[in-house]
Amino acid sequence: MVLDNLGSSLRGSLDKLRGKSRLSEEDVAEIVKEIQRSLIQADVDIALVQELSSSIEERALNEEPPGGTSARDHVLRIVYEELVALVGESTDLPLESQTILLAGLQGSGKTTTAAKMAWWFSKKGLRPAVIQTDTFRPGAYDQAKQMCERAEVDFYGDPDEEDPVEIARKGLEETADADIRIVDTSGRSGLNETLIEELKSIEELVAPDRNLLVLDAAIGQGAKDQAKAFGDAVGIDGVVITKLDGTAKGGGALAAVDQTDSTIAFLGTGEEVADIERFEPNGFISRLLG
Ligand code: GDP
Repeated sequence: MVLDNLGSSLRGSLDKLRGKSRLSEEDVAEIVKEIQRSLIQADVDIALVQELSSSIEERALNEEPPGGTSARDHVLRIVYEELVALVGESTDLPLESQTILLAGLQGSGKTTTAAKMAWWFSKKGLRPAVIQTDTFRPGAYDQAKQMCERAEVDFYGDPDEEDPVEIARKGLEETADADIRIVDTSGRSGLNETLIEELKSIEELVAPDRNLLVLDAAIGQGAKDQAKAFGDAVGIDGVVITKLDGTAKGGGALAAVDQTDSTIAFLGTGEEVADIERFEPNGFISRLLG
């Protein structure tokens, strides 16, 4: 089974089932409790944890294990399937020409992610370019330019232009040779109308193939509101969770995935351009439970 990196107490509860052919309500309750504890510690929204728990309990007690399956393997398979349903599959990202818009609050890691994603696409043999439209945060232009140099990818920005929509317009022209255009946008310290209106104007002009919402792994309860605001404004196709190299496990972002009915595209695992991973459910589940 793919869940080979379980937390030790969950593994202990599962191991108690060895040799048993039937699950009791107490067995299931103990396992569900362990999972709940891990997920809540990983900041997963309580309502999502409740939903997952009910599905696991219901299935573990009512589904007949396929012939020859032990109680342990039966519950493990259900737990795994329900966790995959919770975290979702990774966002579909065909390796072909496309424009991707990044949205998110200031400090979430958008600029860093733009350069990292460009690096990632370049390693897949495509020609990416980053268009930096963040005119709000001082230093955003220099930071993006330097990171794109390190990633050895094309970059467009204009430190003398104040209008982000104008930068986006010129940027699309200037990067016409690129296969992948990643448009970085400005954030604000909190949700506000200026941010949303600006983002909508850029999105309208750029008409991206995909909009990704960038969230800090440490995001907790705020994820749902942010996702709703960005989702209502431009529609969100995928989420990027940054700063997973820190202590936060990123479970809070699942509320954003749920809210926008989207999936997770990438994980950020450091400050350098190569510190990016494509999301895949197994690794993320192990991280949540570990
Ligand atoms: P923006 O305001 O959304 O564009 O955010 P930035 O890209 O400027 O990132 C904010 C800070 O977080 C910067 O100091 C980045 O170096 C840092 N950062 C971004 N992604 C990661 C990550 O995956 N891991 C770590 N440790 N730091 C990150």
